[in-house]
Amino acid sequence: MGKLEIKKCSCGCRHFCAVEKVHNGAGAVTLVPDMIQKYKKTLVVADENTYGAFKAGRGDISEKNTYFVIFPAKPVLVPDEAAIATVEKTLDEQTEVIVGIGGGTVNDLCKHIAHTHDLYYIYVATAPSMDGYASDGAALILDGMKVTLKARPPHIIICDTNILCNAPIELIRAGVGDILGKFSCLNDWRLAHIIKGEYFCNEIYTRVYNCAKQVADNGQRIVNREPLAIKQLAQALIDVGVEMSYAGSSRPASGSEHHLAHFFEIYSLEHGKQHRPHGIDVGCAAYFTALLREKIIESSTEPSFDFCRQSHFKPLEQLLPRAYEGIRQLQDRVGLHGNATGNYDMTQIKGVLKQAPTAAETAKMLAAAGLAPNSLIDFYSKETVINALRYGKELKDRFTVLWLYEYLGWEMLNL
Ligand SMILES: [Zn+2]
Ligand SMILES: [Zn+2]
Repeated sequence: MGKLEIKKCSCGCRHFCAVEKVHNGAGAVTLVPDMIQKYKKTLVVADENTYGAFKAGRGDISEKNTYFVIFPAKPVLVPDEAAIATVEKTLDEQTEVIVGIGGGTVNDLCKHIAHTHDLYYIYVATAPSMDGYASDGAALILDGMKVTLKARPPHIIICDTNILCNAPIELIRAGVGDILGKFSCLNDWRLAHIIKGEYFCNEIYTRVYNCAKQVADNGQRIVNREPLAIKQLAQALIDVGVEMSYAGSSRPASGSEHHLAHFFEIYSLEHGKQHRPHGIDVGCAAYFTALLREKIIESSTEPSFDFCRQSHFKPLEQLLPRAYEGIRQLQDRVGLHGNATGNYDMTQIKGVLKQAPTAAETAKMLAAAGLAPNSLIDFYSKETVINALRYGKELKDRFTVLWLYEYLGWEMLNL
């Protein structure tokens, strides 16, 4: 693989991704020992399950000059201050390379640590569950808030088809869900472009769209664990991460559907409840954002920006007491509340909304991979889904269809 760089894009930007090498295929994991040989000291980070999957897939790392941080399988690893401290405790001056083995959480944690401590970083995926492999952001939970810190992507990404094919089916479905969510966030991106004049790159848009299309066409083969289909899913997950690096933000890969998923995650964390794998929630949430787009297309209401901010935030104080203060500060900075700036030509807006798949089309794509949108309601309750549709956007600084939903009044969607 050559250098990941597009020197001259039609959008006027130079796009760059700092990943040096990707190994995607059967047996890729056997390359690890050679890769780390030249370093003084290696730190391996995994959890019991992912390290087990690595070993079962013939992954092997000699214990010589290697230190291991293997988190327990339960409770599920949260990439928060405590987890960061656990890894940092093991680092010393001799540590030159970090090998992260696992899913999104391990990758986010290691990305952050490799970045802050300037370490070479090799990431071994154990499940095709999310698209953050190659992105330059690390999603962490700090102070109870889901934040994405600037990091750098792994220097080397390893996706071994033998390991990925044996991943838990929920995690394979999660990878499909994360990718199917792209139809939703790409539409949000275009929306933000025409309304708010946000930066937009048509080439990134098209490449991410094609990744989503390819996964959508192969949902069934993927959940049947066909090696070629799994390899293609892994490639889509890698490629989308590269596109995020190219865009310099997660904009091409994360929009309203992710904001709903983040709401479920933070809500569950705050209330000591379980949440489902990220991509499962993202995929199912994309159905609800599709529903929202349809309702807006049908609606004859004009946007209104003058609602009372105080009362708007009140329920959030109860719903997310820990994150509330951070959310309030964030929204003060973002300034989208009551902000009428932008081009709110509803004919043009509806034209963009119509480009996204309908709710029925989304449900069909999800069903092929065994994902049922209503499982969101079954798992988190109808009330929580409604709250996510209203307040999910408050967790982020990004304009999406969820803001339009607010400006048009919340009542149009009857779940
Ligand atoms: Zn571009
Ligand atoms: Zn995602």
